[in-house]
This record gives sequence, C-alpha cells and structure tokens, in this order.
Amino acid sequence: MPNKVQERKPSGYTLLGVMGDPIAHSKSPAMHQIALQETGLQGSYVPLHVSPEGLDAAVRGIKAMGFRGVNVTIPHKVEIMAFMDELDDSAKLIGAVNTVVHEEDGRLIGYNTDGIGYVRSLKEEAVSSIEGKHIVVIGAGGAARGIVYALLLESPASVTILNRTVERAEMIASDFKSMGQVQGLATGDSQQVLLRSDIVINTTSVGMHPNLHETPIDPADLPEGIVVSDLIYNPLETKLLSIAKEKNCVIHGGLGMFVYQGAIAFEHWFGIPAPVNAMRRAVLQSF
Ligand code: NAP
Repeated sequence: MPNKVQERKPSGYTLLGVMGDPIAHSKSPAMHQIALQETGLQGSYVPLHVSPEGLDAAVRGIKAMGFRGVNVTIPHKVEIMAFMDELDDSAKLIGAVNTVVHEEDGRLIGYNTDGIGYVRSLKEEAVSSIEGKHIVVIGAGGAARGIVYALLLESPASVTILNRTVERAEMIASDFKSMGQVQGLATGDSQQVLLRSDIVINTTSVGMHPNLHETPIDPADLPEGIVVSDLIYNPLETKLLSIAKEKNCVIHGGLGMFVYQGAIAFEHWFGIPAPVNAMRRAVLQSF
C-alpha cells in the first residue's frame, strides 16, 4: 500500500475508467472490474476513448460525472499534468501521470504508479531487496524514467541506463542524479557494465510481438545467475528472458508491472489492499 493512504471505501456506486487513444485493446477494465468485485465494491471501470483535443473536457468530466478516479494511458500521460489540481512527487519527478484521484473536496490529484508498480512486482517475484545492487536499465523512454525513479528510492549501489540514443539516457541520469548513483551510456558500451551487474531490466520494445527473435543487447554479455527482467508481456517470456533462463538467471516478465501499477492505483482510490492475485488472473484470461 502507498504511504499515508486512508481507507475510504465508498458506500454508493463508484465510477472509474481509463483514458487513452486508442483504448479498445486495454486490459485495465477487465483487471479493475474484478478488483471491484473481489473487494465487494459496487461500481464500473470503463474504457474512455479520449482524443488529444478532447482531453481538457474529459478531465472536467471526471468532476462533472463524479468519477472516483481514472487511469491515463498513451498519448495523454504528459499532457494531463496541466489539468491536475495537485501532483504527487512521483508524477512531478517522472513528468507523467498514469493515475488520477478525485478527492472528496473536488480536487484532482495526479500520481505515477508505473515505476513503483514495477519495483513492487520485481521485489514480490524476483529479488527480495534492491539495496546495494548494481542495476542496468536498457532503454530511456517513458517507462524507463518511472522505473529509474522508483529504483533509486530503494538505494541501489548504481543504476546505469543504456540506450540506442545516448542523449536520452544521459538526460534521465542527469534528471535523477540527486537521488543516487546513476549514469547514461550508449548500448554499444554495455559489455563492462553488464559484467558487474546484479539486475538487468529491458524497458525497450525490442523482442515484443511480432519481433520475437530480437534482443536489446547481445545476450552473450549477460553474466550467469543474475536477475533479468523484461517489461514486455507479449510474449510472457521474451527471447532475452529465455536465454537468461539458460544462464541460470532468475527471470521476471512484464505482466507483474501491469498488475501492480493497477493495484497501487486501486489503493490510492480506496485505501484498501488490492486483490492482486485475482487481478493477475483477470489479465491472463483476457489474452
Ligand atoms: P518509449 O517512450 O517509446 O521508449 C522506447 C524505448 O525503446 C527507447 O529507449 C527507444 O530507444 C527504445 N527502442 C525502441 N525500438 C528500439 C530498437 N529497435 N532498438 C533499440 N532501442 C529501441 O516507450 P515506453 O513507454 O518507454 O515503453 C517501452 C516498452 O515498455 C514497451 O515495450 C512497452 O510495451 C513496455 N511497457 C510495459 C509496461 C508494463 O506494464 N509491463 C508498462 C509500460 C511500458 P531510442 O531512445 O533510441 O529511440
């Protein structure tokens, strides 16, 4: 559960949703509808197809129609920040919002649960502690930003961001340097840094369906027996993960990140623990 969250189970019917464009493919409605049902809450979680031009009006609609909150997905995560009454530190530092809470006093608060959700999933499923670990993050897009922020909250020994476009890796490193030991490098310079890594995380789309045979780094550079994680969950086991498994690594796929970012959003809305196992089953069934 996020810190300082008070229980606030609603007594009446609750409205929730996810705003994006496109939105029909989203697995969030299936996952959150089960979460409402499992926790005995009366309500609906609906897909909301919102174009960029309609975002301002849609956000006012959260207030007008009394939604308890919404999730926000591509392409609105950055632009929606301007319409919030308040931003949590997670959203401010990452520069994106994926969860909006409509408080009882009418204010809309923006949070980012992506990175925190990822780290919670990593700790539940693959490694008990991140403290003192040398971590390599491959990729420097929106997902990497949230993950680097959340990893640095856990006091790792170092975080190295590798990216095809090195300037983007350097930019994230510079933005978060006050939080810990973090550097950005070109993916081509990865050999030495991979050799001493404890945890390697792919945050690029390389290896995602239909490009199942691609890997974001040369897997020969992965040390034996470390933790290897991939944000991709289609397929559930990427080529990077299957090669890592052959090298006796602990492997961790992207499904948990999706489930936990949703679980933390749920906890922000209601202040009660989310039914994580049922949520995971609902996502798997929706494939
Ligand atoms: P993004 O902002 O577009 O960033 C994409 C990143 O991938 C950039 O670092 C980009 O490098 C790199 N990249 C893309 N194609 C590449 C290629 N052919 N070779 C090398 N690098 C390449 O995307 P994002 O929002 O961060 O999402 C990234 C991935 O995470 C996607 O696969 C997405 O599905 C996944 N994701 C999963 C979850 C989850 O819940 N499991 C949540 C969010 C995202 P350049 O900077 O050089 O272009």
